Order: sequence, then C-alpha cells, then structure tokens
Amino acid sequence: MHILVLNCGSSSIKYSVFRAEGGILLHHGLAERVRDYTVSLERVFSAVRDVLHRGLDAIGGVGHRVVHGGNQFSRPRILDGKVIEALKANSWMAPLHNPHNIRGIEFSALKLQGVPQVAVFDTAFHSSMPPHAFTYAIPWELAEKYRIRRYGFHGISHQYVAARTLKIMGKNSPAGLSIITCHLGNGCSVAAVKGGKCIDTSMGFTPLEGLVMGTRCGDLDPAIITELMSVESGGMTDDQVNDLLNRKSGLLGISGLSPDVRDLLALREKGNDRAFLALRVFTYRLQKYIGAYHAVLGEATSLVFTAGIGENSPRIRSEALEGLEGLGFILDPEANELMVGGKEGEISAGNSRVRIFVIPTDEDRLIFEETMSLVG
Ligand code: ADP
Repeated sequence: MHILVLNCGSSSIKYSVFRAEGGILLHHGLAERVRDYTVSLERVFSAVRDVLHRGLDAIGGVGHRVVHGGNQFSRPRILDGKVIEALKANSWMAPLHNPHNIRGIEFSALKLQGVPQVAVFDTAFHSSMPPHAFTYAIPWELAEKYRIRRYGFHGISHQYVAARTLKIMGKNSPAGLSIITCHLGNGCSVAAVKGGKCIDTSMGFTPLEGLVMGTRCGDLDPAIITELMSVESGGMTDDQVNDLLNRKSGLLGISGLSPDVRDLLALREKGNDRAFLALRVFTYRLQKYIGAYHAVLGEATSLVFTAGIGENSPRIRSEALEGLEGLGFILDPEANELMVGGKEGEISAGNSRVRIFVIPTDEDRLIFEETMSLVG
C-alpha cells in the first residue's frame, strides 16, 4: 500500500508518495505558480501515476494538510461529507488557504473513489492551549459568537520538530521537557511546548499575528488598521488593508526591497540601512517571543530552529539569541555555522542550560504518519 500526501497551497501544490511499509518516501514533487487548479492537480496525479508503476490503484489512503480546523477539529479526521461541510463552513476564517485544501480533497475523492482520505490540521497541535493563552481581551460574547480566539498555525511543523527533539535528546517521554519551537520560513511562528503539549503560540486568529514574516506584519497595534481605513489616511478598504498586511508588509514592507532573508543579508553586507533595519526588527521580535516563552514555560529545556530561515541561517539564529546568554541560551559558534542545508543537530555550547537544535521540518512525514494511524 502507498499513501499520497497532498499540500494544496494558494500558489503551489506539494505532494509526496510514501510506501506504507517501512514509511519510505518514494517521491516528493512540487507544482509551482498554480493558475488553473484543476490542470495542476491533473498533472500532479499523472506524475504520481508514473511513480507508482501499478497506477493509482496502489494508493490506499490520502493525507491532506488542512490549514484551519476551527475549534471543532483537534486531531486528524477521516474525511466524509459531514467533515467536508464543516471545513467549507470554516473557510471564511482562512480564505487564502482552506478553499485550496478543499479543492485538493474533492479532486482526490473523484480520482480515487473509495480510498480513505484524511485531513491533518495545522491548527490541531495548538488546540491544547489553555483559555488564558487563546482568549483575546474583547467582549466575551462577541468572541463566542464569531469564534474569535487564538488558533495558531504551522502546528504540523511544530509537532514534528517537538517530537524529533525528544528522539534526539534520547527521551522516551515528553514529561519534563519544555521546548520552544521556532518555525522560520516564508511564514514564521513560535510555539511553547510543555510535556509534549502546546501551551502557547505566536500566530493567532489568522496567520497574521506574531513574528515579522516575509510579507506579513505580525504583531501590530489594531488602531493602525482603523487609522489606515480613515479618510485622513487615505481611506483604504478592508480588502486593501488585508492585502497590505498580508502581502506588502513584513521584511518586504520595512526594507522596500525583498521578503527574502538571503537577499536582505546580502544587501545589509553592502551597507543598506533599510535591509539592516528590517532584519533587526525581525530578530528583535523573535528574541522577545523566545524570552516570553522561556518565562511561560518556567525555563525552557530546549530551543529548536526549523524551516527555510531556521534551517539555513546561522546569522539570524545567532542574532536572535545575542544577549540571552544570561537566560541560559549559549550557542556553539562553530556548530551553528555548520548546521545548514538540511542538517539536523545540536548547536548549543557545552555550558548552555538550554539545549539548542536545528531540525529540518518534515510536515509530509507527519501527515503520512497521522494518515497511516487512521487508515493503516
Ligand atoms: P515556506 O514557508 O514557503 O515553506 P521555507 O520554509 O522554504 O518557506 O522558507 C523560505 C524562506 O527561507 C525564504 O524566503 C528565505 O527567506 C529563507 N531562506 C532560505 N534559504 C536561506 C538561507 N540560506 N539563508 C537565509 N535564509 C534562507
């Protein structure tokens, strides 16, 4: 039996094929710059057919990454009509993501009739947060009515690297481990994981809150939004504000140059002030979250960097931790420098109270494992 993992994003479709036996990854592919979704999905399925010489019959289950599970789904679910309806009802909360996820689900259901499909939610890992972490200080009745609360995202990645940390540290149980996981990719988020359970995370009702990201603003005074919408400041519409904060802010917005950390590091090297400021705001915000989660965990035992920036940028890692030596975060500069390009390992010094790791994320593997546990 084989398992297909589908991650249908707004502009790309990522997919993996695993052999169920032994959990071997047979193929990983990516369809980029998706314009016509059906055409791209057809291409993906035809590539999968080529990989599996026996054709699509060899697929015994499909695992889908679904971004928003709302407050109904706290664990992976086999997809049936009812679950799909609930996902559609949640789509307004993740308009950039869930509609694409649902297209992938409906397309696979047509292609692979009778094959069980599983939704693995990006929000699920964060569903263990206590009310004091997920409640916003707005009128309670309003929050209840519109289900406004912190949901958190990137949960599949945070869960995967937290579980890997356990393995690397040679522990059989998460008890006693307090981990800060930093997912730093195009989107960025931090989570505080105590005893294997998420107790807080930086993304909120939507993926806009928290850290500075490539093009998203992260934490912001909400009054800025009403200011931008006021006549005096140009009278932006809600769509324009949404676009501004999701696609034109963050590193791109501050620098006016690029959302990509690689570009900004190179520009900073050449003396560019705006690139310098953008990166400084990025690492300063990250440092504040690390400090805050160290506090809410009552002292972290471990810190993990993952995703594009976290896995590849020793500079960003060291700048984010600069000054935190007194709190117990001490890097081994050489190990930090070497841990790039998909390597997994420890980068803290021998005398660091907090053990610091770089762990390449593998969301597809976690989706495969969760799918297997429901269909296997
Ligand atoms: P996504 O969130 O789309 O999966 P990734 O996790 O691949 O994205 O992260 C992409 C980002 O990682 C890029 O925008 C870039 O800023 C950063 N990145 C990738 N390689 C490097 C590198 N060598 N040094 C610094 N940043 C990098």
